[in-house]
Amino acid sequence: MKLVFATNNSNKLKEVQALLPKNITLLSLQDIGCLEDIPETQLTIEGNAMQKASYIKTHYGYDCFADDTGLEVSALNGAPGVYSARYAGEQRDANDNMTKLLTELQLKDDRSAQFKTVIALQINGELKTFTGICEGHITIEKSGEHGFGYDPIFQPNGYTQTFAEMDLKLKNQIGHRGKAVKQLVDFLN
Ligand code: IMP
Repeated sequence: MKLVFATNNSNKLKEVQALLPKNITLLSLQDIGCLEDIPETQLTIEGNAMQKASYIKTHYGYDCFADDTGLEVSALNGAPGVYSARYAGEQRDANDNMTKLLTELQLKDDRSAQFKTVIALQINGELKTFTGICEGHITIEKSGEHGFGYDPIFQPNGYTQTFAEMDLKLKNQIGHRGKAVKQLVDFLN
């Protein structure tokens, strides 16, 4: 079975493909000839995931799934949340985003945060969503080389490493995206 994952983020593709049964092969946006930026204009993570999946169905005709993820920091009332990608500006630079977040938290005692992933699946005329949450805290400094985005400054509860210090297998086992993908796979089964 071939399934379109509405992303061109190679890190996300790698994470999700590793969680899928061997009989499901993912196609990226590039694989279906979609080279444009998909609009993400909604005010919630759920809304953006649904918007991306619906856009691909409407404009390219494929059933597909899309993921949208945000990092919600308690001391910042849930920010950057749905604005995580552009937190430090339109350049959407991971390093700039992390530096800004570490600066914002410099004087805060509460460093608790959570990653939230919503996967929206557009299939057979229906739109379904699956949510995965991983709780943890923001570290004092960046650490680790694996992963992407905010991984070097996020330490999940119960672990002494950041996501960027873990291998993909462990991140997938305990992480937000892994939890959402497991629900997706259960549904597809
Ligand atoms: P989006 O889901 O691609 O819109 O991601 C929103 C922002 O969160 C981007 O800055 C991503 O780099 C970041 N992000 C998404 N997923 C993860 C993750 O699993 N770990 C760390 N950062 C992530």
